[in-house]
Amino acid sequence: MKKTKCIKCAHESEENLEKFRVPLCNVCYRFCPNDEDKFKEYVHEKLDGEVLKTFRKFSEIGNPQKKAMINKASEGIIMSRPAFGYKLVNGQLTPAQNFREIEEIFEEFLTKKISLTQLAKKHNLSVNGLKKILKNFTYIGKVKFNNQIHDGKHNPIISSTLFNHVQNKLERLGIR
Ligand SMILES: [Zn+2]
Repeated sequence: MKKTKCIKCAHESEENLEKFRVPLCNVCYRFCPNDEDKFKEYVHEKLDGEVLKTFRKFSEIGNPQKKAMINKASEGIIMSRPAFGYKLVNGQLTPAQNFREIEEIFEEFLTKKISLTQLAKKHNLSVNGLKKILKNFTYIGKVKFNNQIHDGKHNPIISSTLFNHVQNKLERLGIR
């Protein structure tokens, strides 16, 4: 059987699904929009193939309730962009040019007497965006999926020690 490669996540399958003449895997197909313009945007937003692989593994679980939950989670993953500091290269999360800025942000938050608002401003982020960064497991090479932390295939850009210290400080300051 002929295999086709999904244009969004690079997964190869024999299902030969396509929409607007674009080959897609069954997962990306399931969530693709019907509107052609939106579809182009959707396809353009490439995603982390590793995360999707985890999803595929979990979606084989039979329980329908569980399945619905996983569908919801995967929808979030499929629609999301790579985390700040990463870019996608051939469906793989790869450190972007600005990846050192992430370490700077973590270090500054940990060692400097600077408020979240000031730190966010300094790096051109919203306070919420900054909080998301400080709590994002992607930076230590993990993926959060179905509310559980799994090992990802991508390279971490900060150390687990730095990350854990930051988590402790966030907790100490009651930042959620
Ligand atoms: Zn796909």
